[in-house]
Amino acid sequence: MKSEMTKYKKLLLEKKQRLLDEVKHIEKDALKQSQRDASGDLSGYSIHMADAATDNYDREFSLGLATNVQKILYEIEEALKRISEKRFGNCLNCNKPIPKKRLTAVPYAKLCIECQSSEEKQQRSSGVVLPPPPSSPSE
Ligand SMILES: [Zn+2]
Repeated sequence: MKSEMTKYKKLLLEKKQRLLDEVKHIEKDALKQSQRDASGDLSGYSIHMADAATDNYDREFSLGLATNVQKILYEIEEALKRISEKRFGNCLNCNKPIPKKRLTAVPYAKLCIECQSSEEKQQRSSGVVLPPPPSSPSE
């Protein structure tokens, strides 16, 4: 049991490091972009409108990505805390053990698959309007 915790801790720390590297890249890119905007980059005058729009899109995409990464980093911190408090590996909702396969794939998972999917369903029905799934084979 103890060696298993060590394994998950290692997975979490590796994942954390990768995400931190990613954030660094994203921030560097965003910085480069805004510096170019601020300096008015002379060569930029020849940029077509379409290119400018793409730049804008890329930056918004990067920022969205960074937010997502921050969220996962937070989940990882929480998972590491759960390991040190010896309550890692159980669903925070129903308290059933989370399958090892799931923990290996998503070491920061805090809910079992059933609770996760019912929570997602709840979020979907509680005002947050999301686009419908791409295909609904049952209809
Ligand atoms: Zn559960």
